[in-house]
Amino acid sequence: MKQQDPATTWTGLFNRNRVATNGMSLDYIPSELVEGSIIVKLDKGETEKEIDKWKSALIVYVVGDTTRYNYMSKYVQQNWNTVSEPGIYYHEEGYYIVKFQRIAYMNEILYAGPYSINNGPMILKQWIPDFDFNAEFLTELPLWVKFPNLLMSCWSRDSLIRIASAIGVPKYADECTAKQTRISFARMIIEVNVIKSLPSEITVMDPSGKTFQQGVIFEWKHEYCEQCLMIGHNCDKQRRDRLKKEEQKQTRPIERKKRPQKLVSTWVPKVDTHKPATSTGDQQGTSYAGATKQTQQEA
Ligand SMILES: [Zn+2]
Repeated sequence: MKQQDPATTWTGLFNRNRVATNGMSLDYIPSELVEGSIIVKLDKGETEKEIDKWKSALIVYVVGDTTRYNYMSKYVQQNWNTVSEPGIYYHEEGYYIVKFQRIAYMNEILYAGPYSINNGPMILKQWIPDFDFNAEFLTELPLWVKFPNLLMSCWSRDSLIRIASAIGVPKYADECTAKQTRISFARMIIEVNVIKSLPSEITVMDPSGKTFQQGVIFEWKHEYCEQCLMIGHNCDKQRRDRLKKEEQKQTRPIERKKRPQKLVSTWVPKVDTHKPATSTGDQQGTSYAGATKQTQQEA
């Protein structure tokens, strides 16, 4: 992949790929024969040079969205413009690599999250040399987690680590947490395993042996499908929701017959509040921004 002009389309990047002067000439380096098999031995200097190039890159994955290259490029230009423009590379497995000019720039963007595109949360992780999108990326997710009303005695770096470690592997505490400038909650990035269920509170024991429950708030919680073994949806929950809807459809007309001409609670939409209440049973169970009114209702 080559450095590109972000204004071009993804396919457009390769228009000139076939031009001979744009490639590079290659020579021959013989492989080694080890116990009858050909083995390619890489050179440390060569690989380290390449690793150096990508150390300041983030893997970017948008959950539940196939964000087009142009869209991602525009998003980065508009939202991550506090640092010099990074290179954006698309991988056909569905993720991007965004390569910053400095590690400091990468951290600045990483720690200012979380981000989302079209309501699809964006997962960001620093690139590592043996990065494997499918094997590791989508099983260990970095999530922003808040610990509301954390006791002031628990704000030392190590205590924060102890508390966060009950959920996963702590990665980073935001500036307000590190400097204790915002004392209503501590906020950290914690890498969690997607297969484990996320707690809403954890039990903490103070040095005197007294325990207390510490609340945990996830700024975004992933959905995990145990059937498909992937994040982004939950087949089982979707099935349950469907069944619930069907059940509601079937029970609603019977309920109406049972209680004819009775005083019932009905959701009245806000726009209709000036008109006389003429709501029908159809509106029952639908959520509106209006107030609940007691109305006489004909069955
Ligand atoms: Zn599924």
